[in-house]
Amino acid sequence: MIKARIPLLHDRHTHVSFYAALGQAADLSACTGLKAALALLKKQKTPLALGRGWRDNYYDLPRAELDKLGPAFVCNVSLHSFRLNGPARELLAGKFPEIVAGIDDQRWVERNLNRIFGLFTASGGAGAIPAYMSHLAALGIWAADDMLVSSDEAALLLRKKYAGRVTLWTEPDCYRKLGAAGKAAVSGLKIFTDGALGARTAALARPYKSGGRGLLLHSDDGLKKIIKSAGRLAGRLAIHAIGDAALEQAVSALERLAIPAGELAVRLEHAQLITPEQARRAKKLGVCLCMQPNFSEDSASYGDRLPPRYLRLNNPFRMLIDRAGFIPGEDLVFGSDGMPHGAAAALESSLFPPFPGQRLTLEEFTAGYCVPGLAHGWLDLRLDGRKKKAAVKVTLSGEQAGGRSRGVW
Ligand SMILES: [Zn+2]
Repeated sequence: MIKARIPLLHDRHTHVSFYAALGQAADLSACTGLKAALALLKKQKTPLALGRGWRDNYYDLPRAELDKLGPAFVCNVSLHSFRLNGPARELLAGKFPEIVAGIDDQRWVERNLNRIFGLFTASGGAGAIPAYMSHLAALGIWAADDMLVSSDEAALLLRKKYAGRVTLWTEPDCYRKLGAAGKAAVSGLKIFTDGALGARTAALARPYKSGGRGLLLHSDDGLKKIIKSAGRLAGRLAIHAIGDAALEQAVSALERLAIPAGELAVRLEHAQLITPEQARRAKKLGVCLCMQPNFSEDSASYGDRLPPRYLRLNNPFRMLIDRAGFIPGEDLVFGSDGMPHGAAAALESSLFPPFPGQRLTLEEFTAGYCVPGLAHGWLDLRLDGRKKKAAVKVTLSGEQAGGRSRGVW
């Protein structure tokens, strides 16, 4: 058993405003079977029952079963694949015909995620954000990068009330819709090059077990154009790339564009299947990698879709740090994507991952995942390597704790 005290977390990739607005949807992420998931969906009393966190590696959601419910719309845990039942199609056909027509076409889905998420977050506005920030703080997360701020209301509230704690990003189509003050609150733009492993749409150089290599969302030239214009808009760009084929396209585009770092700072988001060669080229380009230690778990849970070689090569932190020279806290930073949030899960997946090549030391974790210093609070840890468990006591100082320090093991 190791005891240690470290600072609170800075979750560099999550979706504060989105998850806050999702509060209405049933959280299916703890369900490992169809029965439990259907029971939670049945409890929803809204005209359109919403479910999130469906783990499709454990169970299918057959249309025949879903159709027995009232209108229902379910999103899987990766936020990249969906099930819309028959009654929901009838309900939405008049107002959202494109969603009803496109929802079963994964190519359309990957290009229209924001439009689809609009249905999930329609009922919740920015009002739910303060409670969500408190919820994150109680889990040990003090600061956060919100990767998709989609309304002026959310952007201004986060910027004003949580100055110094939140960094705001958004996607180009959302950015264009923001007003001047909303735009000014945003620090950078985020674009996608591929989908997600959960939806079998992360773009791979070698096929998935079921065939297919996922989806590249842009042509090589198209991506270069998007990077250039995003650079002009915000000067800071986060590029979502999970599969090795998507990473190859992103790194090659950046090499060809050769935009000086002073004009465009680039972060690669996820980079789960980055190869040693791509890592060296990314390092040379001065790119920062923003990665999710909790996705090391994919190596244990996605044996149904990924060949063993990819399971082994997922989240290769030892290669990145020991061989490619990435430095946690400098050009290698960590976040959760909210899958799930919290210090305990972050620590367990970082210190006790499925493969040794995915392991971070506590020093590396602290450098890449924590805020500097203990001014706002701290985490007291009990780390049990044998049981692969991290017990975390969160202490918040000052205002957040109502003047007293508060701890929960
Ligand atoms: Zn994300």
